[in-house]
Amino acid sequence: MKLGVIADDFTGATDIAGFLVENGLATLQLSGIPDNAELPVADALVVCLKSRSCPADEAVVSSLAALAWLREQGCDRIYQKYCSTFDSTREGNIGPVTDALLDALGADFTLICPSLPVNGRTVYQGNLFVGPQPLSESGMRHHPLTPMTDSNLLRLMDAQGRGRTGLVPFNTIAAGPEAIAAALTTLREDGYRYAVVDTLTEQHLLDIAAAVSDWPLVTGGSGLAIGLARLFSQGQAETARASGHPMPGRCAILSGSCSQMTNRQVAHYREQAPSLALSVEECLKDPTYPARLADWVLSQGPGPAPLIYATTTPEVLGDIQRQHGAQAASEAVEACFAALAERLVAAGVSNLIIAGGETSSRVTQALDINAFHIGPQIAPGVPWVRATDRPLSLALKSGNFGDEGFFSIAQEFFYD
Ligand code: ADP
Repeated sequence: MKLGVIADDFTGATDIAGFLVENGLATLQLSGIPDNAELPVADALVVCLKSRSCPADEAVVSSLAALAWLREQGCDRIYQKYCSTFDSTREGNIGPVTDALLDALGADFTLICPSLPVNGRTVYQGNLFVGPQPLSESGMRHHPLTPMTDSNLLRLMDAQGRGRTGLVPFNTIAAGPEAIAAALTTLREDGYRYAVVDTLTEQHLLDIAAAVSDWPLVTGGSGLAIGLARLFSQGQAETARASGHPMPGRCAILSGSCSQMTNRQVAHYREQAPSLALSVEECLKDPTYPARLADWVLSQGPGPAPLIYATTTPEVLGDIQRQHGAQAASEAVEACFAALAERLVAAGVSNLIIAGGETSSRVTQALDINAFHIGPQIAPGVPWVRATDRPLSLALKSGNFGDEGFFSIAQEFFYD
């Protein structure tokens, strides 16, 4: 068997790829559908799209293209990967993409499994929780693009999809794979198209995976991948991780996220390593600024990697956005980091640690990296990744991932 994953954004793709490798599948991550199919051999292929917040019909078209390509590569199990907070609007894009994939695969029933207990995402009686809070009371209710104001996955899926949504409740899940399989069969026979599964623990994910391992399509966050990878793996986690392991070499950290956790990570790391705050004014007005920043990075001696950060508090960010416009400021910061990364790599930096989902996408685009080997996880959902075509490793972290010591912990892998 070979697993093909269609992920709706970049760091979400890295997130699932990290779990696949950690649980024994050699995994390649691809930025969209690659032009040439000359790829290293892998047990799982993860195609990353930018289909979370685009119009639903575009998401369907790109997801179907990814499906066709994955099937050409021999993938006989397909995994639709979305965010563990079910990021979507009333129109989609999760439901329409699920329907299109079901149709293309000639299937009429699938699983809805966003939970990731290790990161506090659980499902109880069909309601999604973020830590102790229902989804609709978590920070996700204020998300700028996909505000989540309902926690009930059955209602969410009923609104977005073409069919009806049923529930496999906690007490059935707790009874193990056979009971889960029987409940899923009953839902299908009763005419349901999607099954939400309660999930409170990793054991639940393993049991759910065992019940659905021969399905052509499953959908979920990255948690279900833990169970599927363990079932499909030949028990070679070390080998799976090896091709994506970073090598000792020059390293730099670029932090373009303003999340709470990244603020803590930057404050913590600044106490132990050379660091420089990026100036948004300079980004906006001086085209030579990335070159000057690169000179500063390259002038640092050996020791902990130097850090350049745009990371700032919500108050300062608010001031900057009022002064320059949110869009213009973001664009200037992202463009500066992209140009800086290009210069650093050209000068021989072979390891980059990047904080920020958008920042990560922008930098990998600028570096024109289309395929990655996935290596060991630095934190749940954040693996080291290595370009397949050159000696360059990246740690790409979306805002709230990792703990306070993330930037230092990432560098410990060079010496493993
Ligand atoms: P996260 O994963 O935390 O959401 P992203 O990189 O996706 O991080 O998004 C952060 C956005 O904020 C980026 O567009 C980045 O350029 C922008 N940004 C970061 N720092 C600043 C700053 N000091 N002023 C203005 N915009 C900033």
